[in-house]
Amino acid sequence: KEIKRLEELDKKYFLHPTSSLKQQQEKGPKFIFTEGNGIYLRDVHGEQYIDALASLWNVNIGHGRKELGEVASQQMAKLAYSSAFNNLSHEPVIRLSEKLASLTPGDLNVFFYTSGGSESNDTAFKLVRHYWKLKGLPEKKKIIGLDRGYHGVTVAASSATAIRQFQEMAPGKAPDFLHAVPHKTNCELGDKNDPDYARSIRGIVEREGAETIAAVIMEPVQGAGGIHIAPDGYFEAVRQLCDEFGILMIADEVICGFGRTGQMFGVDNWNVVPDVMSMAKGITSGYIQLGAVGITERLRDDLAKVSNDVLFHGFTYSGHPTACAVALKNIEILEKENLVEHTKQMESVLAKGFNYLEEQHSIVAKSRAKGLLGAFELLADRENGIQFAPEKTVAPLLVEECFNRKLIVRPVTYGGTNIIAMSPPLVMTKEEIETMITIFDEAIKTIKKTIL
Ligand code: PLP
Repeated sequence: KEIKRLEELDKKYFLHPTSSLKQQQEKGPKFIFTEGNGIYLRDVHGEQYIDALASLWNVNIGHGRKELGEVASQQMAKLAYSSAFNNLSHEPVIRLSEKLASLTPGDLNVFFYTSGGSESNDTAFKLVRHYWKLKGLPEKKKIIGLDRGYHGVTVAASSATAIRQFQEMAPGKAPDFLHAVPHKTNCELGDKNDPDYARSIRGIVEREGAETIAAVIMEPVQGAGGIHIAPDGYFEAVRQLCDEFGILMIADEVICGFGRTGQMFGVDNWNVVPDVMSMAKGITSGYIQLGAVGITERLRDDLAKVSNDVLFHGFTYSGHPTACAVALKNIEILEKENLVEHTKQMESVLAKGFNYLEEQHSIVAKSRAKGLLGAFELLADRENGIQFAPEKTVAPLLVEECFNRKLIVRPVTYGGTNIIAMSPPLVMTKEEIETMITIFDEAIKTIKKTIL
């Protein structure tokens, strides 16, 4: 009876983020979770689910880590909050900044703090535009993102996002955001014969003029757009292009950061050092809200040199002491338990599982994994690369069958694709991956009866 009441109250009072409001009004919330432990979530009915999305690609060290609660409690009792405006400071933010500097590549050694990924990207856009303005180039303000990119939902972050639905919501797209065709290394190296050249970053820079382009932004592995891994050499080509034209490179590490791809940061897979790095999610494994923006010392020095005024950008919660203390403990666990290395090793287990699914089911195709970030697609005709008719909604159907078998994954259907995406907590073991693959196998067998 109490559960029914909770469901009714949810329908009545809660406006869910990124959710079908119609479905909520008709059926109430899908799950009401009460507890988490490792890769598992438990709901009000006592049912246990494998959280193969790490909730929102963020619970990297897994659920139920008491140490994080203890650290938060101690920090709250000591100094829950104090501001970092006007050069005020506190120990957790200083220690976290030192720690991040030791982890991030190259001379990305200076950090600004936010409460999440969208704020981090907004901050990155403002910093790079501010930088060029101070350099006497106020028109150098366009930002180039990639098709299928996801960078968040604030006005600027959703304008950098290339998933159409996020831009269509009022107030629409902000000016000065452009999108390029993703992952075309040859175009970025200057292959003008490629039909996609005009839509590549290089093509856009040539058309618009480098003097109007402030920065490019890209995810090391595209997440919400369906887990798309750049081919080797791509980021190096983009780095080279940015250096050639005097454009800053922003890596959106909100999903990839903190071990997700089997390296501490996604760009570490390719030995590329961006000028700016945005982070969130895995920085605290979702235990508390925190985001960060890393910039190079060179950029900070330039900003400090040319600016004789205040940096008029800061959130009340920039460098929240409790959040910083939790982040430090989270990173300590990542390191102590070798979770980044473990994630790297689990990549081949996941890939092997995907291969098995491809062998068993002709509708499974294009599987891919980088660390514990993985996906496979569902195709009507694998040999000829033909997608299912849009009305079949095959990926959501499969995800529903996975839910019935106590496995939580995500469908990505934008652009007519049927992608099944996953990013389990980095503590997932070989045996647990195998269990997940068995569930997929059974769920696919079931949906095949209705879709083929
Ligand atoms: N950037 C990327 C790559 C993301 O995946 C997300 C969220 O999923 C964001 C930015 C936005 O982060 P937040 O939801 O914390 O604002």
